[in-house]
Amino acid sequence: MDVRELYQQIILDHNRSPRNFKVMENADREATGDNPLCGDRLTVYLKMDGDIIADVSFRGSGCAISQASASLMTTSVMGKSTAEAEDLFGNFHSMVTGGPAGVPDTKIFRKLAAFAGVREFPARVKCANLGWHALKAALDAEPGLVTTE
Ligand code: ZN
Repeated sequence: MDVRELYQQIILDHNRSPRNFKVMENADREATGDNPLCGDRLTVYLKMDGDIIADVSFRGSGCAISQASASLMTTSVMGKSTAEAEDLFGNFHSMVTGGPAGVPDTKIFRKLAAFAGVREFPARVKCANLGWHALKAALDAEPGLVTTE
């Protein structure tokens, strides 16, 4: 299995059985992301323990890329501090938009790198980023809806 196939497997797997896919009762924070170009819409829920993301979930509908990316986002930031999660957001955003920062060689990023290929498809970048934008908005406690537009 080559690297490209491995990455497709990760995306297929997370799309077929998304992790932490539920509405969180008594969430501390939540934010909804909307990507009207593709029709993706999802809400990210957070339970904070001080500065630590004690629990994270998402719920919504959309294309395979947006669902799989949000799923992998939840497993990536679970148990992390706000600062660590924002670092991951920055690195992920940079990776899918072809920014200057390299992909960190960490266990988490070896999976997140599944989405590096979307940089060749600008319309899909918004799909891959949607869950992360909603996470960022929830961490920043920005009320209401975030949109990729
Ligand atoms: Zn999409």
